[in-house]
Amino acid sequence: MRLSRYFLPVLKETPSEAQIASHRLMLRAGMIKQASAGIYSWLPLGYKVLRKIETIIHEEQARAGHLPVLMPTIQSSDLWQESGRYDAYGPEMLRIRDRHERDMLFTPTAEELITDIFRAHVASYKDLPLTLYQIQWKFRDEIRPRFGVMRGREFYMKDGYNFDLTKEDALHAYNRHLVSYLRTYERMGLQAIPMRADSGPIGGDDTHEFLVLAETGESEVFYDSEITELKFGAREIDYDSHDQCRAVLEEFTSRYARTDETHDEAVFAERVPEARRRQARGIEVGQIFYFGTKYSEPMGATVQTPDGKSVPVHMGSHGIGVSRLAGALIEANHDERGIVWPWEVAPFQVGIVNVKQGDATADAASEGLYKALTAAGFDVLYDDREERAGAKFATMDLIGLPKRVTVGPRGLEKGVVELTDRRTGESEEIKPELVAERLS
Ligand code: ATP
Ligand code: MG
Ligand code: MG
Ligand code: MG
Repeated sequence: MRLSRYFLPVLKETPSEAQIASHRLMLRAGMIKQASAGIYSWLPLGYKVLRKIETIIHEEQARAGHLPVLMPTIQSSDLWQESGRYDAYGPEMLRIRDRHERDMLFTPTAEELITDIFRAHVASYKDLPLTLYQIQWKFRDEIRPRFGVMRGREFYMKDGYNFDLTKEDALHAYNRHLVSYLRTYERMGLQAIPMRADSGPIGGDDTHEFLVLAETGESEVFYDSEITELKFGAREIDYDSHDQCRAVLEEFTSRYARTDETHDEAVFAERVPEARRRQARGIEVGQIFYFGTKYSEPMGATVQTPDGKSVPVHMGSHGIGVSRLAGALIEANHDERGIVWPWEVAPFQVGIVNVKQGDATADAASEGLYKALTAAGFDVLYDDREERAGAKFATMDLIGLPKRVTVGPRGLEKGVVELTDRRTGESEEIKPELVAERLS
């Protein structure tokens, strides 16, 4: 992409409404624009990041054997009356009335909708296990929308639902989700720690939240410092193996790690040596639940067992805050100059800065690099504007591309360009034709 043809409305001033770094930087880098309280438009740079996050989630869901679907954002209240949640959900639900005076709502979560799909089409244990998920906009009329996309009212969420014959199978689905979530966050360069949590309006007994440690996080968390040393890494896992998935769950949840909702000071003191006790703040980027037959029973989602009995299916639901992740990634990756994107989710991986636009040699070398890097499969942003070099550098630093190639007449006389790492700030001189190889 040539910056002269891109839409990158960066702000010079720090927006006064933004209290935390990610909100400030997303506005300054022209990633989002507020439409109304807690509701945002995603501009090209922000949308590109959102899609990269989404792609990683889809790939990891596919690896775990989960099937993508797409359900509507607007639902009728009928299913929620059936489950008993319509009145219980409270003012976070945006209720809408259509022209026929029918009660509708904007989906805050979709347990009822998916259970209705299941009961219409699945009747036998032979069709289980089944996990369906979507990535779709949700609306919750948050009492205090703030921090930009971190606590929006409209937000993008991955929500998945498992259907199983037995509790044991459903707990395997729970463990499988935990494994796939660990992989998902790590691929984005994020450490998200599973912590024992409270189930809230989704209901159920077993639940873990995934938290990214950050001072600006809204949750208070208590944990054994050993947990931050755990890495899922490159291990291969058989998602069908109950034992393998359970072993990962045990490894990642055996140490004390809880949010304030479930924290117990006495247990904390008893189980964790004082030197390893940590109290910190975290951003909730996902949550998994097992809730058994909470929805299948009232909604009649049953299957035939091998011996011909009809039983309600065991279910769980599993969410990732896709739009919140864009903010959480910035909270975890920025410095005083701007964003520092991890490679996997960077809107562009490489930025080319032509410090002397209009100089025939510099223009030709920049063009050549732009074509070569693009052909090599990199996502490249070429700053080809007639701007001062300083302003170009500031823009690149602000939008946080992992690598910058600086092209100028002085280097070219020596036959080199400069390759700079955004995170470390380290630069090296390199022949233009070797840049692609160095980056792979
Ligand atoms: P929170 O405690 O932050 O209100 P939640 O527990 O109500 O979140 P879940 O029902 O667990 O949310 O939804 C799954 C995920 O969706 C959350 O882990 C979070 O990452 C994301 N999410 C929830 N509410 C919002 C919101 N208002 N804005 C952006 N993301 C959200
Ligand atoms: Mg909430
Ligand atoms: Mg929560
Ligand atoms: Mg939650």
